[in-house]
Amino acid sequence: MPDRIYNFSAGPAVLPMPVLEEAQRNLVALPGVGMSVMEISHRSPAFDEILHGAEADFRTLGNIPPHYKVLFLQGGASLQFSMVPMNLLAQGAVADYIVTGHWAKGALKEARKFGATHVAASTEDVNFKRVPAQNELKLSPGAAYVHMTSNNTIHGTEWRRLPDAGDAPLVCDASSDIYSQPIDISKFGLVYAGAQKNLGPSGLAIVIVREDLLARSSDSLPVMLNYKVQAEHGSRYNTPPVFAVYILRLVMKWLVGIGGLAAIGEINARKAAMLYDELDGTSFWAPHADKDSRSRMNVTFRLPSEDLAALFAKEAAAAGLDGLKGHRSVGGIRASIYNAFPVEGVAALVEFMREFERTRG
Ligand code: PMP
Repeated sequence: MPDRIYNFSAGPAVLPMPVLEEAQRNLVALPGVGMSVMEISHRSPAFDEILHGAEADFRTLGNIPPHYKVLFLQGGASLQFSMVPMNLLAQGAVADYIVTGHWAKGALKEARKFGATHVAASTEDVNFKRVPAQNELKLSPGAAYVHMTSNNTIHGTEWRRLPDAGDAPLVCDASSDIYSQPIDISKFGLVYAGAQKNLGPSGLAIVIVREDLLARSSDSLPVMLNYKVQAEHGSRYNTPPVFAVYILRLVMKWLVGIGGLAAIGEINARKAAMLYDELDGTSFWAPHADKDSRSRMNVTFRLPSEDLAALFAKEAAAAGLDGLKGHRSVGGIRASIYNAFPVEGVAALVEFMREFERTRG
């Protein structure tokens, strides 16, 4: 086994070691099946077990009420930017969007192609360093839904309390914090996420949708983009990405094994606190996000100059701390520390920061 480095990438992101090891052991032949998961029919009993096991654990972990469907789809979170309005935004209705970052803007841009939208709030004027307060939201009466992004990957912000969307279904892009702590699904009409940060590999998106909303999906939609059709076919209208589902299945088993979302939530809070405590310790570091909007998944900060930040990322990579360069719209450094990112890796980064400050500060 080659030495693994610490991978701070924002996604595709680090996967749990036990998952990679089990996948490696069973890559050539699944026990009792004699073939790779990539070679078996997606309608075989072996794959039934994988898909149903993935969904069962996913439901147990998130305590998902029975009147919600869980869909395993393709096209990443970006396709959900289109599918949400295609399915949920009828002609004559309006959808509210809370714009808290790059990806929220992407979702809004896509929705505008399908119907009327309204920006309920935006924090772009402060380069998305915070999420809005409830009293800043200008919600449309009778909105088809209110769209939010629970964690803003690029800016490193996260909602501490969910916005109150009134009677409108709350639709959430949870790509970068799904299952990082306990979640109350009953607060949402629909939650979607690309799998490649906290759930598994890319190539898979998860949609959790309240059943009554499926009635909005028009028969005139392309079948593959129709939530109702996907739900009726148990996410197997066509051939699903079997390997990605298999890895997600193993990640769910791993999460159950470590104690579920409450346990991972505590670990994630501890990891984030280690970094924020260090950042708050001296004026050498300038965290991007306001304190009450700080993300536990993506920690963003700047150094006294962009040249120093570039040097930091370069030297960190050489020391086995990879993927720390921030997105160009924020600058500086971004450390993504999703569920599978180990505590020891965060400790190694803190150690590296201290040394860097001591020698370059
Ligand atoms: N939403 C958020 C919050 C993201 O972080 C990303 C990707 N980093 C996306 C959407 C887009 O995801 P995908 O590449 O799966 O389309």
